Formats: sequence, C-alpha cells, structure tokens
Amino acid sequence: MTNSSNILRLKELKEKNNAIILAHYYVEPEIQEIADFLGDSLALAQQAKETDADVILFCGVKFMAETAKILNPQKIVLMPDVSTGCSLADLSPASDLKEWKNSFENPFLVSYINCSAEVKAISDVICTSSNAEKILKSIPKDKTILFATDRYLGSYIKEKLGIEMKVWKDYCVVHQNFSEEHLLKLIENNADAEVVAHPECSDNLLKYADFVGSTTGIINYTKENSSNKFIVLTELGILHQLQKLSPHKEFLMVNNIEGECNICKDMKKNTIEGMILALENLSPQIIIDEDLRKKALIPLELMLKLSE
Ligand code: SF4
Repeated sequence: MTNSSNILRLKELKEKNNAIILAHYYVEPEIQEIADFLGDSLALAQQAKETDADVILFCGVKFMAETAKILNPQKIVLMPDVSTGCSLADLSPASDLKEWKNSFENPFLVSYINCSAEVKAISDVICTSSNAEKILKSIPKDKTILFATDRYLGSYIKEKLGIEMKVWKDYCVVHQNFSEEHLLKLIENNADAEVVAHPECSDNLLKYADFVGSTTGIINYTKENSSNKFIVLTELGILHQLQKLSPHKEFLMVNNIEGECNICKDMKKNTIEGMILALENLSPQIIIDEDLRKKALIPLELMLKLSE
C-alpha cells in the first residue's frame, strides 16, 4: 500500500472503531504526523484519562499502553506491537522493589512512570520527568522517601531539591549510552550552542547541560529560548518536533558510544502497517488483571491529582 492509501485506511479504521491514536515523541515522524495526540508520558496519561474514544491505539512502549489501560478499564487499548519494552520497566521486578521498600521504616515509594503495572501497584505515588519535582515536594516530611526506577532522574532531583532520598539502581539503556566524547566535540565546535538534556541521561553528561527537562520541557525550552543552536541529549525521535516548531534553529544530536544515532529500538517497532493491523483485528490488546489494575490506579490517580 502507498503511504497515502495507508493513511486513508487508518482514517477509515479510526472512524469505524471510534479510535484515538496516542503517540510518544520518540516514535517515527510519520506516526507523529498521524497521531491525534502526541506527548510525553505525563501528557499521554492525562490524555488517556480524558478521551471519550472507545479504542485507544497507543504508539509508544508497553508500560505507556498499560498506563492507558489502568486509567481506562472499559476501553480497548491496542498497540501495533506489544513486544515493545523499556529497560526501566524490564530491569526492575516488583518483587525486588517490594523487598527494598519493606527494608525501610515508614517508606514512601515514588515510582517513575517507566515501570511495570506490578511496580505501580506497590508504589505510593507515580511521577514523570515533567512532574517529579512537584510530586516529591508534596511528600510528608516524616516519610522515608524511596525513588525508583531511574537512578539518574532520581539522583538529579535529589541533588536539585536537596532532599534525603534513597534511589533505586536501574537506568534507561538509551539515555545512559550517549558518548561524552562526541558531546565534548560538539560543544568545542559550537560555542554558540546551548546543551539541552533529558534527566535520564547519566550524570557525567548532565553536568554539561544548560537545561535539563522532560521531552516536552526540551521542546518548549528550545522554542522559547533566544539561542539558535542546541546540542540535544535525548532520543532521536524528538528531532522531528524540535525542527517543526523551530524551523530556523539548528539541532545537533549527540551520538551513542558506538558512534551511531542514539535511538530507542523499541519505540521504532511501532509502524503504520502494525497500526492498521491492530485496528483491523482489534488486537493485540493490553489486558491487566482487575485486582492489579485497581492497586496500580491509586498511585497513578494521586500523581494526576498532584499534577493539576
Ligand atoms: S528511551 Fe529509554 S526510557 Fe524511553 S522507552 Fe526507550 S528504553 Fe525506555
């Protein structure tokens, strides 16, 4: 099928199923252009809660679609490919985190939204890179604050807020893998550029950043800032929106340590063909055990309330 027939077919299927397409900034540009709503994890969770569609086709990674299902048990939540993982969700089993949580007195577990439904279910509140500071500031002072899953986001916020907090050990395989050598070369050759970074980047990279923020934060910062050149430390997919919203500015992407463009392979498993098949067959669907869903809903709803 040609690209235009694919788009036409998707439109027909969306209408037939009363479906909405939600997509993350890291998916391929052609999907970003088709999506009804594009955003970071916080915005996607908020949008998933607000939609009146019967079907949500989620183009991102599995924990994001699970979040949509936790918030919308009555809706069908589909993905083009359910094998889309995320190292932060996959490296952190709930059993390990439960044991860690139980080893502290009066614990309060703040979990990054990049985690499994099982981890959400044992958490006290969820946060994203957009709202982590706000959420952490709201925690009662008598609690032992624990932060999972991303160690770099946790350490960055801990230092920024100057709070006492225990941080779990996992990481994003993509953001940890940027080449410091390539970053330094870009800084040296582009003295007029500002460095913008996602807080999942390792601390040896974050120390060079003029601005640290979520994908939405980076997009807004580069749009509003007077600088015309930016060195960008986050996944390649963001480039499409950066260039679209600031067409006259220059964006230099930092390579990974293998000297290649730094991409999240799981995000790229989302394809237009997969989207069509998912809407044709109403499969594969995200299914979550109801007891687990109810437990995972509590910290997610608290996050949404605290983010208002
Ligand atoms: S970029 Fe990292 S945090 Fe984001 S989905 Fe991919 S592996 Fe997970």
